[in-house]
Amino acid sequence: MVIILILVFLVPLLLFIASLNISWNFYVRAFSKSSYSSDSVMLTFDDGPHPQNTEKVLDILAQSGVKAVFFLIGESAVEHPEIVKRIVREGHLAGIHSMRHTAGFTIAPSRMVASDLEACRKILEDITGTKINLFRPPFGVTNFNIARAVKKLSLKTVGWNVRSYDTAIKDPQRVIERVAGRITPGSVILLHDRMPDSPVILTGILEAVRKKGLKTTIFRELNG
Ligand SMILES: [Zn+2]
Repeated sequence: MVIILILVFLVPLLLFIASLNISWNFYVRAFSKSSYSSDSVMLTFDDGPHPQNTEKVLDILAQSGVKAVFFLIGESAVEHPEIVKRIVREGHLAGIHSMRHTAGFTIAPSRMVASDLEACRKILEDITGTKINLFRPPFGVTNFNIARAVKKLSLKTVGWNVRSYDTAIKDPQRVIERVAGRITPGSVILLHDRMPDSPVILTGILEAVRKKGLKTTIFRELNG
């Protein structure tokens, strides 16, 4: 009886919770923290390119001499190819964040996930003229179907170990404090360049990183 209860309730519950926690590496091995870096953190920006906010983020990164990773939505990249080109031209890395970032992606069969990611990759490769093999799942959700597609396309999945909640917390100062209180050497920080406060938040986080005696870099695990 107990075994049946575990199978019926506990196993599906655990599978569901695992799908929401990319750093568990349950479905997909995701890079969520550097084990080499003792003095740096890495900034990642999801959901761009955004016509107003991404370039403001790029301006701050350029002024600060900081490189970051941008996970881009295919349909937005088609609309704003000049921003995608600028991201790569200025030494940042671009990665796949699905074609449309819909909830449907998280329940789609593996074949559909693979063709979505392939289409997004092609768009980014055509615009940038570079090979694209980094992927961050929309909503950070992973499952068996996404895992199969990632394997088929030989993508490198990138997670995070510091979530800013910049899309949920309204006060940018609270977002900055939240991140500042959680960063350690090797941290991968999740941010969203589509948010209007992202330039303010980025400035605050760069300041907090400096105060902790840390640097900001693209970890070498992402190259190659
Ligand atoms: Zn996203």
